[in-house]
Amino acid sequence: LTRLYGPLTALSNVRVDVMSALVSFDRVFEVLDLTPSIAEKPDAVALPRGDGRVEFRDVWFRYPSAAEVSLASLEDVAALDRQANEPVLKGVSFTVEPGQMVALVGPSGAGKSTTSMLLSRVYDVTDGAVRVGGVDVRDATLGSLRDEIGVVTQDSHLFHETIAENLRYAKPDATDEELWAALRGAQIADLVRSLPDGLETVVGERGYRFSGGEKQRIAIARLLLKAPSIVVLDEATAHLDSESEAAVQRALSVALTGRTALVIAHRLSTVRDADQILVLDDGRVVERGRHDELVAVGGLYAELYRTQFAVAASPAPLVADAQEP
Ligand code: ATP
Repeated sequence: LTRLYGPLTALSNVRVDVMSALVSFDRVFEVLDLTPSIAEKPDAVALPRGDGRVEFRDVWFRYPSAAEVSLASLEDVAALDRQANEPVLKGVSFTVEPGQMVALVGPSGAGKSTTSMLLSRVYDVTDGAVRVGGVDVRDATLGSLRDEIGVVTQDSHLFHETIAENLRYAKPDATDEELWAALRGAQIADLVRSLPDGLETVVGERGYRFSGGEKQRIAIARLLLKAPSIVVLDEATAHLDSESEAAVQRALSVALTGRTALVIAHRLSTVRDADQILVLDDGRVVERGRHDELVAVGGLYAELYRTQFAVAASPAPLVADAQEP
């Protein structure tokens, strides 16, 4: 998300302090409405609600140059152009059937975050197409995209407002009962209930300070309220204590059930469960398949598995994994 803020700040006249106050992609989308590069077409159509099929068709992408956003000085334009003209995605194609989970893996800089940002239309493709429910995302209304795609990132910010207000960004007309149901699904209802002001507790910098894992669960509660058919998830690399980690995992499994998921995967359990793993390297899908198939191939995935996923696993599963063939 940090990478997202950078270009957004450059793309618009919105002040940096406003940007840093953004809590969710919903808000980011509001800002993006101001940027010319992802304007809504006059004849844009609403995405079919609840479809959840995702297709990338020969997607090429290079980051927009400064000239295209017409903001930087001339020297900056030249410097940025040199850097930006390299495509970072080079013909990426894949399909995610409704309800399936795809795990994106690959070395740093391979294009995983870029792929996830193209799905939620933070940027438009340079060539090729991204389709949701059969509709090119460039032809969809921004409102329907926002409704269909929920994003959970590693750093979920909360506004200095009440818990109820923070949740209602996802669904302004949600009743208190709906808020509680979402909090229960996100495994955080008991904690909120124990606070003297309950849903009316003010949170954030100068209010009640949730831990990292608790903030993530509030973000998941927001996602449950919004009930998108597609979830884009950047799995945490930051270490949570094991109790918090377990609660976040339970909340995520509730949130992902029945939804299409595109996950930038850091957890062994995710790659093992994925219906499809896409291995990205230098902007291309170099391997695809399920965990066991890819381990058997003995290529880049097998190497990543040894160096990243086995290492990232918590001590208990690691022992169990090591004993498996
Ligand atoms: P990581 O695992 O390190 O997060 P990643 O696989 O998610 O990496 P991306 O963030 O998608 O990779 O980056 C792909 C390439 O695009 C990298 O070379 C990166 O430096 C470049 N890149 C990312 N953001 C921008 C930007 N705003 N402008 C220009 N280039 C960018």
